[in-house]
Amino acid sequence: MDSFDDLIAANEAYAAAHDVSGFDGVARAGVAIVTCMDSRIQPLEMVGLGLGDAKIFRNPGGRVTPQALEALVLGVHLLNVSRVLVVPHTRCAVASNTEAELRRRVAESAGGDASWQPIHVVADQDEALAEDVRKVRTHPLIPDTVQVGGFVYDVDTGLLDQRL
Ligand SMILES: [Zn+2]
Repeated sequence: MDSFDDLIAANEAYAAAHDVSGFDGVARAGVAIVTCMDSRIQPLEMVGLGLGDAKIFRNPGGRVTPQALEALVLGVHLLNVSRVLVVPHTRCAVASNTEAELRRRVAESAGGDASWQPIHVVADQDEALAEDVRKVRTHPLIPDTVQVGGFVYDVDTGLLDQRL
Protein backbone atom coordinates (compact mmCIF):
# COMPACT_ATOMS: atom_id res chain seq x y z
CA MET A 1 0.00 0.00 0.00
CA ASP A 2 3.03 2.31 0.05
CA SER A 3 2.00 3.69 -3.32
CA PHE A 4 -0.52 5.86 -1.47
CA ASP A 5 1.83 7.03 1.29
CA ASP A 6 2.39 10.50 -0.16
CA LEU A 7 -1.34 11.08 -0.43
CA ILE A 8 -2.08 9.79 3.06
CA ALA A 9 0.63 12.02 4.50
CA ALA A 10 -0.85 14.99 2.65
CA ASN A 11 -4.27 14.06 3.96
CA GLU A 12 -3.06 14.08 7.54
CA ALA A 13 -1.75 17.60 7.03
CA TYR A 14 -5.04 18.57 5.40
CA ALA A 15 -7.11 17.18 8.26
CA ALA A 16 -4.92 19.00 10.79
CA ALA A 17 -5.25 22.32 8.98
CA HIS A 18 -8.96 22.21 8.08
CA ASP A 19 -11.98 22.12 10.33
CA VAL A 20 -14.42 20.06 8.29
CA SER A 21 -16.59 18.84 11.16
CA GLY A 22 -20.14 19.94 11.65
CA PHE A 23 -20.98 20.41 7.98
CA ASP A 24 -24.20 18.95 6.71
CA GLY A 25 -24.26 17.75 3.10
CA VAL A 26 -26.34 20.51 1.53
CA ALA A 27 -24.97 22.83 -1.15
CA ARG A 28 -24.70 26.00 0.92
CA ALA A 29 -24.36 28.26 -2.12
CA GLY A 30 -27.24 26.46 -3.84
CA VAL A 31 -25.04 25.47 -6.76
CA ALA A 32 -24.56 22.23 -8.71
CA ILE A 33 -21.93 21.87 -11.43
CA VAL A 34 -21.75 19.16 -14.08
CA THR A 35 -18.31 19.20 -15.65
CA CYS A 36 -15.53 17.14 -17.17
CA MET A 37 -13.02 14.99 -15.29
CA ASP A 38 -10.24 17.10 -16.84
CA SER A 39 -7.46 17.91 -14.36
CA ARG A 40 -7.26 21.49 -15.60
CA ILE A 41 -10.70 22.28 -14.12
CA GLN A 42 -11.18 23.33 -10.50
CA PRO A 43 -14.98 23.46 -10.35
CA LEU A 44 -15.31 25.24 -7.01
CA GLU A 45 -12.39 27.63 -7.30
CA MET A 46 -13.30 28.74 -10.82
CA VAL A 47 -16.55 30.26 -9.56
CA GLY A 48 -15.29 31.48 -6.19
CA LEU A 49 -16.79 28.70 -4.10
CA GLY A 50 -15.32 26.42 -1.45
CA LEU A 51 -15.96 23.50 0.86
CA GLY A 52 -19.65 22.84 1.46
CA ASP A 53 -20.90 25.24 -1.21
CA ALA A 54 -21.77 23.07 -4.20
CA LYS A 55 -22.59 19.65 -5.60
CA ILE A 56 -20.12 18.54 -8.26
CA PHE A 57 -20.74 15.81 -10.82
CA ARG A 58 -17.91 14.92 -13.17
CA ASN A 59 -17.45 12.55 -16.09
CA PRO A 60 -15.55 12.51 -19.39
CA GLY A 61 -16.87 15.50 -21.33
CA GLY A 62 -19.07 16.91 -18.56
CA ARG A 63 -22.16 15.28 -20.02
CA VAL A 64 -25.66 15.22 -18.54
CA THR A 65 -25.98 11.45 -18.28
CA PRO A 66 -28.77 9.59 -16.43
CA GLN A 67 -26.48 9.52 -13.38
CA ALA A 68 -25.92 13.27 -13.63
CA LEU A 69 -29.69 13.81 -13.73
CA GLU A 70 -30.06 11.55 -10.69
CA ALA A 71 -27.53 13.71 -8.86
CA LEU A 72 -29.32 16.91 -9.92
CA VAL A 73 -32.74 15.63 -8.82
CA LEU A 74 -31.31 14.76 -5.41
CA GLY A 75 -29.48 18.07 -5.31
CA VAL A 76 -32.56 20.12 -6.15
CA HIS A 77 -34.97 18.37 -3.82
CA LEU A 78 -32.82 17.33 -0.88
CA LEU A 79 -29.64 19.36 -0.95
CA ASN A 80 -30.58 23.01 -1.55
CA VAL A 81 -29.57 23.27 -5.22
CA SER A 82 -31.26 26.14 -7.10
CA ARG A 83 -28.70 26.87 -9.84
CA VAL A 84 -27.19 24.30 -12.19
CA LEU A 85 -24.13 24.94 -14.36
CA VAL A 86 -23.34 22.52 -17.20
CA VAL A 87 -19.68 23.08 -18.05
CA PRO A 88 -17.85 21.29 -20.86
CA HIS A 89 -14.49 22.84 -21.81
CA THR A 90 -12.10 23.73 -24.59
CA ARG A 91 -9.52 21.18 -25.79
CA CYS A 92 -11.52 18.30 -24.29
CA ALA A 93 -10.22 14.88 -25.35
CA VAL A 94 -13.67 13.39 -25.83
CA ALA A 95 -14.78 16.35 -27.95
CA SER A 96 -11.72 16.41 -30.19
CA ASN A 97 -11.23 12.71 -31.01
CA THR A 98 -13.36 10.02 -32.57
CA GLU A 99 -14.39 6.99 -30.55
CA ALA A 100 -12.27 4.84 -32.88
CA GLU A 101 -9.19 6.97 -32.25
CA LEU A 102 -9.60 6.93 -28.45
CA ARG A 103 -10.24 3.18 -28.52
CA ARG A 104 -7.14 2.68 -30.64
CA ARG A 105 -5.02 4.62 -28.11
CA VAL A 106 -6.52 2.75 -25.14
CA ALA A 107 -5.94 -0.58 -26.87
CA GLU A 108 -2.34 0.40 -27.60
CA SER A 109 -1.76 1.35 -23.94
CA ALA A 110 -3.56 -1.72 -22.62
CA GLY A 111 -1.86 -4.03 -25.07
CA GLY A 112 -5.16 -5.68 -25.86
CA ASP A 113 -8.61 -5.34 -27.27
CA ALA A 114 -10.60 -2.27 -26.17
CA SER A 115 -13.40 -2.52 -28.71
CA TRP A 116 -15.91 -3.52 -26.01
CA GLN A 117 -15.28 -0.42 -23.90
CA PRO A 118 -17.84 2.34 -24.53
CA ILE A 119 -16.17 5.72 -24.99
CA HIS A 120 -18.74 8.47 -25.35
CA VAL A 121 -17.29 11.09 -27.64
CA VAL A 122 -18.85 14.44 -28.50
CA ALA A 123 -19.12 15.16 -32.22
CA ASP A 124 -20.41 18.74 -31.82
CA GLN A 125 -19.79 20.38 -28.45
CA ASP A 126 -22.35 23.21 -28.92
CA GLU A 127 -25.02 20.75 -29.97
CA ALA A 128 -24.21 18.44 -27.05
CA LEU A 129 -24.34 21.34 -24.59
CA ALA A 130 -27.72 22.45 -25.91
CA GLU A 131 -29.04 18.91 -25.59
CA ASP A 132 -27.63 18.55 -22.07
CA VAL A 133 -29.09 21.86 -20.85
CA ARG A 134 -32.43 20.91 -22.38
CA LYS A 135 -32.36 17.57 -20.55
CA VAL A 136 -32.03 19.37 -17.23
CA ARG A 137 -34.57 22.11 -18.03
CA THR A 138 -37.20 19.67 -19.22
CA HIS A 139 -36.71 17.01 -16.55
CA PRO A 140 -40.11 16.40 -14.92
CA LEU A 141 -38.56 16.46 -11.44
CA ILE A 142 -36.56 19.64 -11.90
CA PRO A 143 -38.89 22.65 -11.49
CA ASP A 144 -38.73 25.81 -13.61
CA THR A 145 -37.61 27.77 -10.56
CA VAL A 146 -34.19 26.12 -10.91
CA GLN A 147 -31.84 28.20 -13.09
CA VAL A 148 -29.94 26.10 -15.61
CA GLY A 149 -27.00 27.57 -17.53
CA GLY A 150 -24.76 26.12 -20.25
CA PHE A 151 -21.14 27.30 -20.28
CA VAL A 152 -17.84 26.44 -21.91
CA TYR A 153 -14.76 26.68 -19.70
CA ASP A 154 -11.58 27.82 -21.44
CA VAL A 155 -8.69 25.80 -19.99
CA ASP A 156 -6.18 28.36 -21.26
CA THR A 157 -7.75 31.58 -19.97
CA GLY A 158 -9.70 30.21 -17.00
CA LEU A 159 -12.81 32.02 -18.24
CA LEU A 160 -16.35 30.67 -18.37
CA ASP A 161 -18.32 31.58 -21.48
CA GLN A 162 -22.08 31.37 -20.99
CA ARG A 163 -23.68 29.95 -24.14
CA LEU A 164 -27.18 29.11 -22.86
ZN1 LIG B 1 -12.75 17.05 -20.97
